[in-house]
Amino acid sequence: MARTFKGGVHPHDYKELSKDRPIEDAPAPDVVFVSLRQHIGAPSKPVVKPGDEVKKGQLIAEPGGFVSAACHSPVSGKVKSIKPRPHMMGTPVDAIEIENDGREEWAEECNVPADWEKLSVDELKKKIAAAGIVGLGGATFPTHVKLSPPPDKKIDAAILNGVECEPYLTADHRLMLEQPDRVLEGFRIIQRILGGVKGYIGIEANKPDAYMLMKEKAMKYPDIEVVMLPVKYPQGAEKQLIKAILDREVPSGGLPMDVGCVVQNVGTAAAVYDACARNVPLIERIMTVTGDGVERPANYRIRIGQMLTPILERSGLKEGVRKLIFGGPMMGLAQAGPDIPLAKGNSGVVAMMEAPLFEPRMCIRCSRCVDHCPMGLEPSVLSLLSEARRYLEMAEHDVLDCIECGVCTYICPARRPIVQQIKIGKQKVLEARKKK
Ligand code: SF4
Ligand code: SF4
Repeated sequence: MARTFKGGVHPHDYKELSKDRPIEDAPAPDVVFVSLRQHIGAPSKPVVKPGDEVKKGQLIAEPGGFVSAACHSPVSGKVKSIKPRPHMMGTPVDAIEIENDGREEWAEECNVPADWEKLSVDELKKKIAAAGIVGLGGATFPTHVKLSPPPDKKIDAAILNGVECEPYLTADHRLMLEQPDRVLEGFRIIQRILGGVKGYIGIEANKPDAYMLMKEKAMKYPDIEVVMLPVKYPQGAEKQLIKAILDREVPSGGLPMDVGCVVQNVGTAAAVYDACARNVPLIERIMTVTGDGVERPANYRIRIGQMLTPILERSGLKEGVRKLIFGGPMMGLAQAGPDIPLAKGNSGVVAMMEAPLFEPRMCIRCSRCVDHCPMGLEPSVLSLLSEARRYLEMAEHDVLDCIECGVCTYICPARRPIVQQIKIGKQKVLEARKKK
């Protein structure tokens, strides 16, 4: 029987636009704007000031709390300013502006090989924290925190997420095809940190080449199983992935560690390898630029903090693009324009020539949203409660379990903006709890 989860949908994935495009370096930026908020948790705190000379890989901002991450300079050059800049969430956020001197000079401690197998678990975790690694699948949760579950949570499995179920995006696919050893070594480091646990690599069936390659590469490690999963959105969501691979259900309000599991994205594993085996912090990532709004869809290696505009121009941004989305069309965020610095969580940008506006209608009680919700919620009820501003009642209907996958909105024949209404409800419930 196929390993899968309940609910979900099958949108056309449009991956054919960019899946065969090898990773290429985006043009080196003249200037970068490294945002101090590019992870879940407290913003980072700058440790440099305007006028300072910095090297590539040098620490420029330290974590601002326990759940936070460090930032490093993606170029060598000079700090020009620290001030608010546009941010993909809509509100400007402080960013460190660095002018690139083009010399690409690494900080002394960086880009030096290390034998990670000789390091202790504590040393590996320190390296990951110092490298500012966050979840690169889009969640941006600081990785060193996720790899440090409390002692009462017994972990017996690690899952490497190579599903990339969001339509259009192909960055993880290309990474697995072009740098499988980097990904696999990073995953072995993660397994070791978690106590030598069994490892599973989940890949959707629409990437048979990546599945075959990772399977072949993983053959020498008996504690790693590569699992091909049916194509279904949101197969890459943590809870759905755990259900499909391990047949374990994360309880309501719970986390993967409650069922003995930790999930990491393939890009995160590659960054873990860089930190532990090369002493290279997270200063670049792979990102897809695609959609019918660009002439040449591509997968780029971008520097964190570089502006999106020149990258779109390189891809041949067409006149009259109606919509730019950071991430994919199901969970991504539409942007007001392209003048935005890229951040650690940017897995892709989709440019669209069409952006139809739908007039929402009354719920016709067809139950399609309920049948397809992968979390077993009643999106129609949540939508109606949000519309009536009865936000606190949404908590009784488990609104906080919603993973914001957008399946309900996608499937609704009445074109109701269900996930948008749910997001408002979640925020109100959380605010009320905080006040209490
Ligand atoms: S967005 Fe939330 S309510 Fe809608 S289908 Fe996904 S999990 Fe269910
Ligand atoms: S899919 Fe839309 S119309 Fe159907 S029950 Fe859900 S909210 Fe109502």
